[in-house]
Parts: sequence; structure tokens; C-alpha cells
Amino acid sequence: MRIYADNASTTKMSRAAIDAMLPYLAEQFGNPSSPYALGQAAKNALETAREDIAAVLGAAPREIYFTSGGTEADNQALRSAAAQGKRAGKTHIVSTAFEHHAVLRTLEALRSEGFAVTLLPVDETGLVEPEALASAIREDTCLVSVMAANNEIGTLQPVDELADICRRRGVVFHTDAVQAVGHVELDMRALGADMLSASAHKFHGPKGAGFLYVRKGRMPESLLLGGAQERGRRAGTENVAGAVAMAAALRECAEHREADSRRLTALRDRLTEGLSSIPHGILNGDAQRRLPGNVNFSFEGVEGEALLLLLDEKGISASAGSACAAGSLQPSHVLLALGRAPELARGALRLTLGEDATAQEIDYMIRAVRDAVETLRAHSPAWQERMSGRAAFLL
Ligand code: PLP
Repeated sequence: MRIYADNASTTKMSRAAIDAMLPYLAEQFGNPSSPYALGQAAKNALETAREDIAAVLGAAPREIYFTSGGTEADNQALRSAAAQGKRAGKTHIVSTAFEHHAVLRTLEALRSEGFAVTLLPVDETGLVEPEALASAIREDTCLVSVMAANNEIGTLQPVDELADICRRRGVVFHTDAVQAVGHVELDMRALGADMLSASAHKFHGPKGAGFLYVRKGRMPESLLLGGAQERGRRAGTENVAGAVAMAAALRECAEHREADSRRLTALRDRLTEGLSSIPHGILNGDAQRRLPGNVNFSFEGVEGEALLLLLDEKGISASAGSACAAGSLQPSHVLLALGRAPELARGALRLTLGEDATAQEIDYMIRAVRDAVETLRAHSPAWQERMSGRAAFLL
């Protein structure tokens, strides 16, 4: 059995997205900036994609700016609000310690450029307390950035409440919704965020395509110098095929979201229940307030990377945390932010289900993880010490 359980890392492109993009890689290859018919056909396709994406999100087409993905959208959102804040004499930014590195690294850079950054604490399940945000906002705060859904533990933040606090205090609110778009209901009319980042490859679109939503009345600032594409806000010839495929993928996700979400939630809960029977393991994140397909456990006495290799041998593609951290044996910064001990933050297993997951696959994964954990513990001197009573268990 081969099971792909790493959908938070990337998803398989949908047939609809592939079919939608092929003509724009083949005969419809024009440059949207060209005035003749071939160019204008590409331009029309790009604008239709923008309209379709806006319609799914309850936004206006002019509020959607195409980017190369989530990383660029996050960078552009933060850099734009920071530059605009600085011009108004405001140089304080609020975010959280468990954001994606696309946000955290940009914040580090802004800090070195003179901005003050407050990282809000999160509770044990990864939730930001709205009160903590309210008290962190200062007179000179120009931006708050809190992710909609965490990429490691799937925690869904109360973004509408957080956005509301920011609106009342006159502070720009950005949310990295890369893991949420296509998977949970997001309506910009209700959400109240000023900016939102998304990435196509997380919802069955192609890699290298994404967008930044920017509410009417605000303008993103260009990160790149060059042509006047995207109304002068994002230089560079547009990825027409990518945008068209992204729109097709998002439309399809929106059509099936409710049914997919119900089914995935039931499978996720079955997986959580099965893995909970493994002793000295713990679910990371809130049991219910998380993405429909996300399960994340830490197992005491187990190295995440070793667990992944054993699972791969059993046909399961999984992750030890975020893909960007893979290969480095660093403990997950997300799990450390929740207060997990470094050993547990290194022994995490993230299983993220795709819409085609089945109950049989879930049961197979439960057995495979249980066997792999037992095997690794049998070879772990630290685990043997705990079993013999010479050292204390963490959990
Ligand atoms: N933000 C979050 C929450 C993510 O999960 C990711 C990708 O893993 C990104 C940003 C970066 O997106 P991209 O891969 O499109 O650059």
C-alpha cells in the first residue's frame, strides 16, 4: 500500500487544474502585456482567473494580486505594511512565535532594519488569546500578522476576532492563510483581514503560483523592480497557466469543501483515536479546532526523522513537522512555542490526509505507526532507562 499523508507539504494537482492550464502552456502561450490577439487571450484568461478566485473568497477581483506562492505573498504583505507604517512613524509589529518561516524570517529582517517585533505567546493548543493581542497593540503598531491555520499542527485561529480587534485599533491585519484556503470556509466580507496570503500547491493547484489579497483602499508595495504588471504592484511577466490552474483548483475545492471537510474530519478523528492508544504519546494542537485532515503526535523516546524512514519503508509518506525543517534535526519551533520539551518537539509526526483518504488507509497507518514506534523504542537507550525506572518519563 502506498499512502500519501503529507498534504500540508504539497498536494497532487487536480485533473481540472491540469486540464485548465495545458492550453496556456501550449497554443495559448501569449504574454498578457502584448496588444495582439494572442496576448489578449492570455490577459483575458488571467483576469477570468482573478475573478474566479475573488468570487470564491467573497472579494473583488482588484483585491487579488498574483504572486509566485505563499512565501512571496507573506514577504510582500509584511514588507508593504512595514514600509507604509514607517512612513507614518509606526515601527512596531505583532505576530506569533509559531508562524511559518516565510513570516518569521521576514520579521527578523525587519527587526534588523529597526522595527520592534512582539511575538504573542500561544496556549498549549496553539491558540492566540484575543486579549493577548489587544494588550500587545501599541500606539506605534503598524501591523499584526497571525496565521489562519498552522502548517504543523493545523490549529485554526480566531482570525475574525483578531481582525476585529485590529480594525477597531486602526492596525493593519495580515493572515497567512496558505494552509486554510481551499480547505476551510473563508469569506473576506466576514473575515475582516486587510491582507491574506495563499498558495496554489496547497489546494491541488500548481507549485509556483499564489496570491496576496489586499483589501480595497490599501495597496501592496512591489518587492521587485521591473515592469508594470499587476497594476504596478508585482513586476514580472505573469504566470498565466499557473493562475488559470490555481483558479480551477480553488473552484473545485469550494464546490466539494463541505462534503470533503465532513469526511476528512471523521477520518482525522479515527486516526487521532487510534494513535492515542500508543502509550507515552501526545496529540499536538487542539483535538477539534484544527484543519480537517491534520493529525500531529509526539512520541516520547522516538526521533521524528527515524520514524519517517520506517514509515516510508511501510509505504507511508509523512512529515516530522514542516517540510522546510525536514532534514535538519532541529526541534520544531511550533512545538517549542506550545511549550513542548525539545525531545518531544523532535519526535513529532505529522500526517495530513488528502480528500481521497479511506478508512482502510487510516487503519493501516495506525498499525504502521504503532509498530514503528515500538521498533524505535526497543533500540533507544533513553527509552530503556525510563522503562527500567532509572529515568522519569516526560509524558
Ligand atoms: N505559509 C504557510 C503556512 C505554509 O505552510 C507555506 C508552505 O509550506 C508557506 C507559507 C509557503 O508557501 P509556498 O510554498 O507557496 O512558498
